[in-house]
Amino acid sequence: MASQEIEALSSALARLPGLGPRSARRAVLHLVKKRETALPALLDALLSVQDTLVECRICGNVDTRDPCGICADPKRDARSICVVEDVADLWALDRAKLFSGTYHVLGGRLSALDGVRPEDLAIPSLLTRVEAGVDEVVLAMNATLEGQTTAHYLAERLEDFPVRITQLAHGLPVGGELDYLDEGTLAQALRARRPLQ
Ligand SMILES: [Zn+2]
Repeated sequence: MASQEIEALSSALARLPGLGPRSARRAVLHLVKKRETALPALLDALLSVQDTLVECRICGNVDTRDPCGICADPKRDARSICVVEDVADLWALDRAKLFSGTYHVLGGRLSALDGVRPEDLAIPSLLTRVEAGVDEVVLAMNATLEGQTTAHYLAERLEDFPVRITQLAHGLPVGGELDYLDEGTLAQALRARRPLQ
């Protein structure tokens, strides 16, 4: 039976996505064994983001500054916007290092089942950005039914703007969540992006 403090740490870790009680206990044991090295490194990393994490007011990315590093980077092409469902998708695509434009995080996908409506997503801010002058919008939704419904809804909303609308190439596994794809697959989907039908 572990102490109350260790139980508290385990259950806090177990609530993180991707970790369950079993992985959380293994992580705690690792921290206990490496308390001279791993524990201080983790504490430092957590403390340094605690007060500095912000949401970028332009694209919705999470960073330690606002505008985020991507929006503030003069080498990025602000006239090209890649629209993603979540910050995890943005990070996954940016790890692939193939897209030199900027991003826009919707904050979810349309879902009748979960009651997510257009007004629940960051669509007005996207339209404002497109209205200000954009050449291309890449719809990089997940290859799920809800992701594709969202892409088609956005394509309709963008119809009246003089902007090229493309979407990630098929070849993405159906039901595939971008965050779980390897960088080569993502890069390929981005490189072969095509006009939305
Ligand atoms: Zn940003």
